[in-house]
Amino acid sequence: MALNRLDVPCWVLDPESSSDDGWHWPDEASAREHLSEDEDRDPKITVRPLPAPCWMVTCDGECGVTIDEEDEYVFHYPSSAEAESDAVGLGWLTTTDGRLFCEDDAPDCATADLARLEQVPGQLTLDGQKASG
Ligand SMILES: [Zn+2]
Ligand SMILES: [Zn+2]
Repeated sequence: MALNRLDVPCWVLDPESSSDDGWHWPDEASAREHLSEDEDRDPKITVRPLPAPCWMVTCDGECGVTIDEEDEYVFHYPSSAEAESDAVGLGWLTTTDGRLFCEDDAPDCATADLARLEQVPGQLTLDGQKASG
């Protein structure tokens, strides 16, 4: 499965501070542990669960990597559509049968399918990258 949905909602800080923006914890205990590590933190900040489980993107190729596991920070998305569009924006390829591949593992056939997707603003076109010969 290219798009994986977690079993339970993540926990976030409430309100989310700029330094913690986008950070999720798998349960209340680990979120509170993070809070307790910063003694200077505003005591009004608490933790809350997200309304729904997050989505993650995992490569269907050999590496099986999850965005962005290599930097030890896995990206979470509120919907499968956002997860997929972000993966495409990062240069991942999607196939018509719903699989996703990182750039290294992309099969040749996936490129043609990707071309039908809407171009993300600011992204290089595939045609521009294709060298002849
Ligand atoms: Zn999450
Ligand atoms: Zn891969």
